Amino acid sequence: SFPADAVPQAPEDALFGLMRAYRADESPDKVDLGIGAYRDDNAKPWVLPVVKKADEILRNDPELNHEYLPIAGLASFTSRAAELLLSPSSPALAEKRVASVQTISGTGACHLGGLFLSKFYKVAGASRTVYLSNPTWANHNQIFTNVGLPIAQYPYFDKKTKGLDIEGMKRALADAPDHSIILLHACAHNPTGVDPTLAQWREIAEVMAAKKHFPFFDCAYQGFASGDLDRDAGAIRLFLELGFELVIAQSFAKNFGLYGERAGCFHFVASPSSNAAEITTRVASQLAILQRSEISNPPIYGAKIASTVLNDKALFAEWKENLLTMSGRIIAMRKALRAKLEELGTPGTWNHITDQIGMFSFTGLTEAQVLKLRSEFHIYMTKNGRISMAGLNTKNVDYFARAVDKVVR
Ligand code: PLP
Repeated sequence: SFPADAVPQAPEDALFGLMRAYRADESPDKVDLGIGAYRDDNAKPWVLPVVKKADEILRNDPELNHEYLPIAGLASFTSRAAELLLSPSSPALAEKRVASVQTISGTGACHLGGLFLSKFYKVAGASRTVYLSNPTWANHNQIFTNVGLPIAQYPYFDKKTKGLDIEGMKRALADAPDHSIILLHACAHNPTGVDPTLAQWREIAEVMAAKKHFPFFDCAYQGFASGDLDRDAGAIRLFLELGFELVIAQSFAKNFGLYGERAGCFHFVASPSSNAAEITTRVASQLAILQRSEISNPPIYGAKIASTVLNDKALFAEWKENLLTMSGRIIAMRKALRAKLEELGTPGTWNHITDQIGMFSFTGLTEAQVLKLRSEFHIYMTKNGRISMAGLNTKNVDYFARAVDKVVR
């Protein structure tokens, strides 16, 4: 048996702990700005109408069964998922330089990618360190640490401007050892809501090319940043145009509202070369071995839902509309929150609320202010001052702004 002290008590996951505290709060005023899940104007989870339709189609299919998927997942899903990121006319796809594997949503894709790199990213004398933005999605730290890759940080958020610290970021990338692995949020950066402009992405790519760094894109919010799927894939497409070899972790949790179904993909894209297709085949074979020992094969239902939508012109068009509904409501809440804070004359500047994009906003509120919002106003947000914009709606945005006004003064 285990020695008595062999397994120390681990702390509760901060975000899921916050959700538990919110659920236990009986106040009718309570506001949940913690978890990054879309909510409608009534603060309720939103099943995308197009997902409901796909669900109907699947349920009425007499052929529907619950058999195992192949190890690499549902091909009709992973191939369209790759097109969504790379574009259907991508040279990489035409040249068979892309290996795609269905994963346990974005988390599983980050993990499979990390595991793959930990086993095979062995450039002679090169660093295997994964550089993460400061700050980043907290889970990145443990995902890469768990597969034995060292982690380090690059500056990202400028506390003064509440925008991007582009110079600090470039300097850190230039100072990192050659061939480092650089984790980049493809769009709608979590937790800051701050993305580089396309011109800044180009500057980042230049530094990374000079240093032969390896890009690891995490794409959890395609369609949430600008509301446009192609624009949100702009950074990935730019890096590919520039000839980078790279990997992408792709989640369909947020943009399809398929959180619990765990639909995602991991993609490896080889750089253009005469043997790129052969390298890609070898990569795919190793990913299959890793996948087999980890999960055998990925879950079927969420992938079928997404595949049904991605492979049907009319449903695809409807999905884009649904995405606009979500991103549009979030933008409206950004405007309403900023307007209310400015109307109240709340100390500080609030333009960053509308400058930032995607699901989250980094408010600049301190931990003490966050805790006061929780204890006095029943408002739940992470201690770093991040709010999930989707938790705001026409009924609670004024209440939230007034509470912020009180704790800031
Ligand atoms: N990457 C980032 C940056 C995220 O914010 C999230 C979810 O919050 C994920 C990946 C993975 O989410 P999931 O595993 O639900 O797809």
